[in-house]
Amino acid sequence: MRLKDKVALITGAASGIGREAAKLFSKEGASIVVVDLSDAAGAETVAEIEAAGGKAVYVHADVSKAADAENMVRVAEETFGALHILFNNAGISHINDDDAISTEEDVWDLTFAINVRGVFLGCKYGIPALRRAGGGSIINTASFVAVLGAATPQLAYTSSKGAVLSMTRELAAIHARENIRVNALCPGPLRTELLMKYLNTEERRQRRLVHIPMGRFGEAKEIAQSALFLASDESSFTTGATFLVDGGITSAYTTPL
Ligand code: NAD
Repeated sequence: MRLKDKVALITGAASGIGREAAKLFSKEGASIVVVDLSDAAGAETVAEIEAAGGKAVYVHADVSKAADAENMVRVAEETFGALHILFNNAGISHINDDDAISTEEDVWDLTFAINVRGVFLGCKYGIPALRRAGGGSIINTASFVAVLGAATPQLAYTSSKGAVLSMTRELAAIHARENIRVNALCPGPLRTELLMKYLNTEERRQRRLVHIPMGRFGEAKEIAQSALFLASDESSFTTGATFLVDGGITSAYTTPL
């Protein structure tokens, strides 16, 4: 087992990448703190883990709120005795996020509150817990849009993921000698709710697919596998990485016909 006796806190674990990671980390021996806003779906993640023989607890938290972030870390330590893996994965992509002219300030502010302040607060309260555990691994979910621009704009989202990437590098540098590794996981376009509600016509989906050398959307399970590598000691010399898992989209100038 690759995460035997570890405790992992995963935000956004009621759905998509977070839920798949919660189930996979549990199979690999970790106890899981399932964090989300969506209580019924969060409880389902816990039920699936427990049905498979694993240990998990659900914590309702809005990652953009300091008191909630502090509480989720407290619950992790109180329930399972320590925290070793912090997966700051919760994020939103707002339906009205567009270009600079059309995007309203409230859309910008909400996107940054969750996608950027949420990661910051996770680290603010999580890093002291990792120190108490003697070290650990932080994984921050950014995106391939942190390194590539798109003419189908989501300006607030793209900018927020750029911030996650640069925050990750600096945290990695600050904490490298404390046995705390910090990496940015950058998924390509995935077939999850978050993207499909935005690419909601065949034309929009094809417009994105044409840029992916593999010619398909990724699956949340495939991202969870990469998160497992970053969470485990197998990535012991990996910190500050821009870990792109994207079907080749950031490597390609043209794709096969
Ligand atoms: P998803 O919508 O399936 O899951 C996101 C989860 O986060 C949901 O359960 C939601 O309730 C939760 N959440 C939202 N706001 C929250 C808050 N304030 N506090 C706590 N939980 C909150 O999305 P996903 O595709 O699994 O995305 C997970 C991460 O991956 C996000 O950071 C997203 O930006 C990133 N990502 C997704 C894609 C993609 O194509 N789907 C690509 C690159 C990066």
